[in-house]
Amino acid sequence: MEKRSKNAKKVGRNLRISSGFSEYSHYEVIFLQKTGGPSKKLPATPLRHVFDTLTITALVLFCAFAALPLYAGDKAEEAAEPSAPAEAALQAPQHTVVVDAGHGGADGGAVGSKSGVVEAGLNLTVARLVQAGLEEAGVEVRLTREGEEALAEGKQADMQARKAIMNQPEVDLVVSIHMNKFTDPSVKGPMAFYMEGSEEGQKLAEMVIEAVCEAIGSPQRKANPGDYFIIRESPAPSVLVECGFLSNSEDEALLQQPAHQRKLAEGVIKGVLTYLQELE
Ligand SMILES: [Zn+2]
Repeated sequence: MEKRSKNAKKVGRNLRISSGFSEYSHYEVIFLQKTGGPSKKLPATPLRHVFDTLTITALVLFCAFAALPLYAGDKAEEAAEPSAPAEAALQAPQHTVVVDAGHGGADGGAVGSKSGVVEAGLNLTVARLVQAGLEEAGVEVRLTREGEEALAEGKQADMQARKAIMNQPEVDLVVSIHMNKFTDPSVKGPMAFYMEGSEEGQKLAEMVIEAVCEAIGSPQRKANPGDYFIIRESPAPSVLVECGFLSNSEDEALLQQPAHQRKLAEGVIKGVLTYLQELE
């Protein structure tokens, strides 16, 4: 609304300026007619021509000076508002992140010990939230899978399809979303894995786990080295986030709550953005 009213003001000013010039041309016509019309213009003295020219010049200069502050005002307003191409440049994604929702299709992943909830669906929900938050921050996001189905038939083909997405040269980092499971039902809380030996992966994973623990109010944890396909086969730094344990009843209930899923996603987003800021 504010923008529209500013434009309206601008149009108003422009109209005033052009009407000023049209008044000037109108003047000229009246002026010539007042001196006796076109027929009497020819015998006028050379001095009269000089006078006419001087008067017209004075009028032109007067109009130009009168219009000057208006132009200057418009320029000042334009300078205050970034032009459309400048805005587009600011919003153009500078980073590309692959968000991988683990499992899918026939491979449901871990199963909740009490509710029977399947990991693959929860992964996709959190991955979608991470995608939305990163896109809002101006990051280009590529999902590996966008629905419940796997990327290809068979586990091997599915993993190769994920690898192809992660291996695109413009990818800055990869974040894979999972839910954990363990034989000891008392073990709970989030974890983040990086490929052993990857310094950048470790840095990313430490930033992500710190932000996730903070977001859900869980005690701080260090990132863990691991050797999983998604962190091993990615040339870009990659983190595998285990959001919690489906083998722990407390986590199992929390992981299905939209409010908790949002907090998890916020943590992942914050960690990823912190890492991306260091790349700049
Ligand atoms: Zn998993």
